[in-house]
Amino acid sequence: MYSQPFSIRLYIEILDPWHLECYLDFMKKSKIILIDMDGVIADFRKGFFEQYKERFPDEPLPEPISDPAQFYIEDNYPVEFKEAIQQVYRSPGFFIKLPPIEGSLEALEEMSQSENEIFICTSPILENPGSAQEKLAWVFKQLGESWRRKVIITKDKTLVKGDILIDDKPEIKGVCKASWQQFLYEQDYNKHITDRPRLNWKNWKEVLNI
Ligand SMILES: [Mg+2]
Repeated sequence: MYSQPFSIRLYIEILDPWHLECYLDFMKKSKIILIDMDGVIADFRKGFFEQYKERFPDEPLPEPISDPAQFYIEDNYPVEFKEAIQQVYRSPGFFIKLPPIEGSLEALEEMSQSENEIFICTSPILENPGSAQEKLAWVFKQLGESWRRKVIITKDKTLVKGDILIDDKPEIKGVCKASWQQFLYEQDYNKHITDRPRLNWKNWKEVLNI
């Protein structure tokens, strides 16, 4: 007892047994890990190309014009395709139909068995009014009821407290200095970024060391 820091001794001395158990349980959880959805667990790119083809079968997209690939899909194609591209991912039903990224669902289940707290942290697309609801529905469909309680939907991820954020976006801006460290989920549009750790669903355990 005397080797424990003062704050822990204080908690142990003032808490009733139930709260003490909760507190000690919390202390055992070593990290809060936030996991983005699009491009990390939901395959935005693959779903987009499938749905674009269905919607515009006679207007196929040309070869991308941007090298390196850009994060926003429309930035990879001539400007005359911009409206059609945006129409696809701003339409009702777009998000719920996205396929999962291979290995992501298994990785999340496995990660949730570790001593860490896992949350899905995702931004809605405001021009697609149903996107927040569809994202919740996607999590329920792909991962089940218990995961729906683990979803944080926000336009500003810097406001969310955590130790690690797994996200594919090259630049994440917000009003706060983020408390988390970003681990970049590897995609072709971020392969030029090497200033932070990179991972995928094959090597995540080694990279995160959990
Ligand atoms: Mg993303």
